[in-house]
Amino acid sequence: MARRRIIAGNWKMNMTPSQAVELVATLKDLVVNPDVDVVYCVPAIDIVPVAEAIKGSNVALGAENFYIEDKGAFTGEISAPMLKDAGVKYIIIGHSERRDIFGENDILINQKVKKAFAAGLSPILCCGESLALRKAGTYTEWIKRQITWDLDGVTADQVKELVIAYEPIWAIGTGETATADQAEEVCKMIRETIADLYDEATAEAVRIQYGGSMNAGNAAELLAKPNIDGGLIGGAALKPDFGKIVNA
Ligand code: PEP
Repeated sequence: MARRRIIAGNWKMNMTPSQAVELVATLKDLVVNPDVDVVYCVPAIDIVPVAEAIKGSNVALGAENFYIEDKGAFTGEISAPMLKDAGVKYIIIGHSERRDIFGENDILINQKVKKAFAAGLSPILCCGESLALRKAGTYTEWIKRQITWDLDGVTADQVKELVIAYEPIWAIGTGETATADQAEEVCKMIRETIADLYDEATAEAVRIQYGGSMNAGNAAELLAKPNIDGGLIGGAALKPDFGKIVNA
């Protein structure tokens, strides 16, 4: 069974609510593609206006973060049920910026994956190596370990609904993209890891994205690879270029 392509924008900490609504309008006609799942993962404050702005379009709503409890005394946090109620479908978990800047470890990331599923959200689980690990040649073991820890206790049926984003940290926001062969090598290895942890059917179903300076110029070559089912896009998601990636 062919996997459906998924192109998701990670807006990060960009776009005020009014800018967000403008961006949705700018991209509206550019991101139409019946064969692709298109997702905008937006800052928390933009969720409500963007949910309204994408109504009736082919775009699904995603969020960038949440806390693992459902409600209570957690000043400043939002919960998975809150996201779900606001119309969010996808949630980015384990992004390298959250791991590195906010100290999120694989124990918390695993809790987040399980909580997201329990709340009816589909995780986009990010993994990837630093430049040092790439140079040391130990990136394969590192990524396998991330995935094994992050999916502890997650069922095969859940993994079939999961999206995994391979994001080499050295390629994020740097303008340096992994070559299509480098990206395919790791995405294939991730699929084999899922086959080892679960079974072939689960590995065939899970969707794997590449992320890291994907743009209108390099998307087609990356997306042509057999184990790359889509992209997680930062910088280029804020520009009309995003439409070219959706239609690459
Ligand atoms: C990201 O942060 O998920 C990302 C891929 O960013 P960029 O496309 O800007 O490298």
